[in-house]
Amino acid sequence: MGTEKRRILIVEDEKNIAMLLSFNLGRAGFDTDVAEDGEIGLRKALSDKFDIVLLDIMLPKLDGFKVLEGIRTRSNVPVIMVTARDDEKDKILGLENGADDYITKPFSMRELMARVKANIRRTAMVSGAAAESGMSAGGALTINTENFQVYKSGRPIELTQREYELLTFLASHPDKVFSRVDLMEQVWNYGYVGDDVRTVDVTVRRLREKIEDDPASPRYILTRRGVGYYYSTL
Ligand code: CA
Repeated sequence: MGTEKRRILIVEDEKNIAMLLSFNLGRAGFDTDVAEDGEIGLRKALSDKFDIVLLDIMLPKLDGFKVLEGIRTRSNVPVIMVTARDDEKDKILGLENGADDYITKPFSMRELMARVKANIRRTAMVSGAAAESGMSAGGALTINTENFQVYKSGRPIELTQREYELLTFLASHPDKVFSRVDLMEQVWNYGYVGDDVRTVDVTVRRLREKIEDDPASPRYILTRRGVGYYYSTL
């Protein structure tokens, strides 16, 4: 990793916010690039290498959800959605479509910095874990930690970085039940409050849709009612 600067793409049409973000992230040691509409944002996100994308939802030309969809066809770069305050529907929709995180407007720089750093920390942790060898996850699932690829019956499954990390975390502690708050701390790297733990539910649901034969009656990631989730070895 060396001393190379982390790069952040800011997709934001409000010039004041974009400048403020750029200034503060720059001061914190990040390289930033700004795209002022969705089309430019998508093009940049796909053509250039970024460590994180900060993605506004209300954007000219292409809204944030469309941009996210476009990014996810080709890239697993961590995406933090910037949503309007208290718009629960937007948060859930973003997460269901492959966002890694969200932050609500108006946000403090301190809060934004915490989210950015938490997402970068996760990336570094996963890179560290890659030094270890691949693991069999039981049944038809295999997790290759060398290339971050999950296979089911030998067929590759496309997971977002967060889905991959959640699966890897649970699978490396087989049959141990984790509460949603535990998972927020362990996988998301920082404490959430209140109904933010729904982030875990949404990610679990998305993951089940990708890895389970029957997501309604899962074989790998199970629910211990009233407690949390665990990875079953049976
Ligand atoms: Ca906007």
